[in-house]
Amino acid sequence: MPNRPYIVGNWKMNGMRAALSEARAIDRGAARHPGVQVAIAPPDTLISLMAEAVETISLGGQDCHEAGSGAFTGDVSAAMLADVGASFVIVGHSERRAGHAETDAIVRAKAEAATAAGLGVIVCVGETEAQRDAGNAEQVVTMQLEGSLPDEAGTPGQVTVAYEPVWAIGTGRVPSLDDVSAMHRAIRAKLEARYGAPSAGVRILYGGSVNAGNAAELLHCDEVGGALVGGASLTAESFLTIVSAAAPETD
Ligand code: PEP
Repeated sequence: MPNRPYIVGNWKMNGMRAALSEARAIDRGAARHPGVQVAIAPPDTLISLMAEAVETISLGGQDCHEAGSGAFTGDVSAAMLADVGASFVIVGHSERRAGHAETDAIVRAKAEAATAAGLGVIVCVGETEAQRDAGNAEQVVTMQLEGSLPDEAGTPGQVTVAYEPVWAIGTGRVPSLDDVSAMHRAIRAKLEARYGAPSAGVRILYGGSVNAGNAAELLHCDEVGGALVGGASLTAESFLTIVSAAAPETD
């Protein structure tokens, strides 16, 4: 059972080699919190270099192709990510769903490819503002889960769900704590219905404008097993504050 909080930084399309010093600082800080599982998903160009630079944190890709190899210009496979030091991959981020027309079926195929390659997978779901305003948030997220999750929960901790309301990403806006708890409870119920007992090994992360100021309260919401962090993961100073907020008192 993966019972450590999982704090994952999504660097998106940010970071040159000079940013390796920031990753090293994050790594040193993470070592002081063994009760927290800390990870970064840098751009693919940095995974190999970062793998040589860090000791404590795990590294992941931000996307993978569903095929193992072939004529897919510009794409990388899950096995290629594993080959350069990644242990997980994010799939179905809303920026991929919106900007690259990724459907639930494509996201699921990517998730299956990731687990088949032995990677952990973080499957992202989340409603738009219009969908929430229409009262459809839980229905939308449940449908996304239905279509995007891999068939098996894999080994404990291998599959993670990230709930990221699209309107909260990069905007500084977050749902109310009650809404975060309600959505995470609904996702837990869906996971139990889908996987049965192995669903206990699936953590649910909250993502969307998590920062040093709001991390502690978001991480205490029902069924929140960690956070997927964008902007605030780019510097050790802000990311480590979030890691500290997730740390158990014994750390
Ligand atoms: C994200 O893009 O996964 C994310 C959560 O971004 P931010 O923290 O910047 O809202």
